[in-house]
Amino acid sequence: MSEAAALLDKARAALHGVYGFESFRPGQEEIVAALLAGEDVIAIMPTGGGKSLLYQLPALARDGLTLVASPLIALMRDQVAQLRELGVAAAALNSASEVEERRQVAASLRDGSLRLLYVAPERLLRADMIAFLAKQKIDLFAIDEAHCVSQWGHDFRPEYMRLKEVAEALGGVQTIAVTATADAPTRAEISKKLFVRRPRLFVRSFDRPNLFLAMRPKANATRQLVERLERHKGESGIIYCASRRRTEELAAQLAYDSGWRALPYHAGLDAETRAKNQDAFLKEDGVVICATIAFGMGIDKPDVRFVFHADLPSSVEAYYQEIGRAGRDGLPADTFTLYGAGDIAFRRRQIEESDAPDERKRVEMKKLDDLVALCETAQCRRQVLLGFFGEEVEACGHCDVCQGAVRLVDGTIDAQKAMSAILRTSGRFFSGHLANILSGRPTDAVRLHGHDKLKTFGVGRDRAPAEWRGIFRQ
Ligand code: ADP
Ligand code: ZN
Repeated sequence: MSEAAALLDKARAALHGVYGFESFRPGQEEIVAALLAGEDVIAIMPTGGGKSLLYQLPALARDGLTLVASPLIALMRDQVAQLRELGVAAAALNSASEVEERRQVAASLRDGSLRLLYVAPERLLRADMIAFLAKQKIDLFAIDEAHCVSQWGHDFRPEYMRLKEVAEALGGVQTIAVTATADAPTRAEISKKLFVRRPRLFVRSFDRPNLFLAMRPKANATRQLVERLERHKGESGIIYCASRRRTEELAAQLAYDSGWRALPYHAGLDAETRAKNQDAFLKEDGVVICATIAFGMGIDKPDVRFVFHADLPSSVEAYYQEIGRAGRDGLPADTFTLYGAGDIAFRRRQIEESDAPDERKRVEMKKLDDLVALCETAQCRRQVLLGFFGEEVEACGHCDVCQGAVRLVDGTIDAQKAMSAILRTSGRFFSGHLANILSGRPTDAVRLHGHDKLKTFGVGRDRAPAEWRGIFRQ
């Protein structure tokens, strides 16, 4: 038997013997095998797919140390506690670690009993830490939540940009980066910024068939949310809001109007209230958390039955990650997203007016367009969503579009009007300008080009420019 095969046998034995699991989850075995054969790996797997085992099993099969970089102290603590319960020697070092804990870690490193060491990235980058680690036999460097390296992502951590230096300082140690969030550009960034060598990429299906997908234009948001909540009496769920104030208002209103146990959560609340509300959500039944995106990473509650968005999420990736917190037990769960023309316009302005370099603005704008396309699609939502992750699937039958909740209209006349506006302006103008022409808005730009004299000017004045822009997108 080859060495890699023997190691894989050991990993399999640990899967049964240490964790008590019957079998690998889809994708786990091939990735563990690739690692044990010495390859560098990027593993992209949906939340709940079992990414931690990808580096924990090799750590148990081999005799060196596995170093894990993870962005959240709470996540590291959880994993270390779970591992210790299973009898695996694991420890975490972060800025909050006590002197005594550090001494124990050093001792267990010296006698070689420590299997996994979790270190916060900022700690890992310290020269004394690197010097210390360079003296150890390290088999594997695992980088959790690897999308944090993406400057354009919403979880960007500057320290992640320097993790490659750590790998280099450790003699180009074997590396695995794992994440649940990575579209093609993010994957490329992870590969370029975190790896000394070219890694092998593994992507597991992102389909979560138990999640029902629904999106609706925002009309009266609170009423729409309350109506949808009717289906979920006694269940636990999350409602994401764009602002701190909105989380508090909505929670108060849900509690007052509909008798929900609804609690706010955002980074501006004091630590005690945050902990209390999070605890209530984790431990009680039937709690609705009205939260900003500060709520989520590291929340491991399997029976979240719904995730709603009171406002447009920040990108398709963020949307996917947020709805992914529902139904981790595999049972049916509901998702419902409200998007408003105002949300879209606001985000567009925010991007345009930011000081970011043009290239970044372009990327941000593209991400927004993708998201709007998902909101306004007349095609199966799951097809469109998974399409962004490079997956092709059949129409799912389990989303609002498939079930006919999205009204389809005959757009022939509108299309003719739109085409006419394009032709009469020689196809040189953006949809926003064309929308103004169609709605008959004599803006400065419209008059400057004499477009208020066109036959097409105002032929669609029954619709506002925002509606025409929607038609152009479709
Ligand atoms: P991720 O980091 O991908 O979100 P985790 O590594 O936290 O997922 O795993 C999610 C849950 O699935 C954990 O409770 C873990 O113990 C469990 N799990 C992982 N692999 C297996 C497996 N092969 N069989 C059964 N349960 C598993
Ligand atoms: Zn569908």
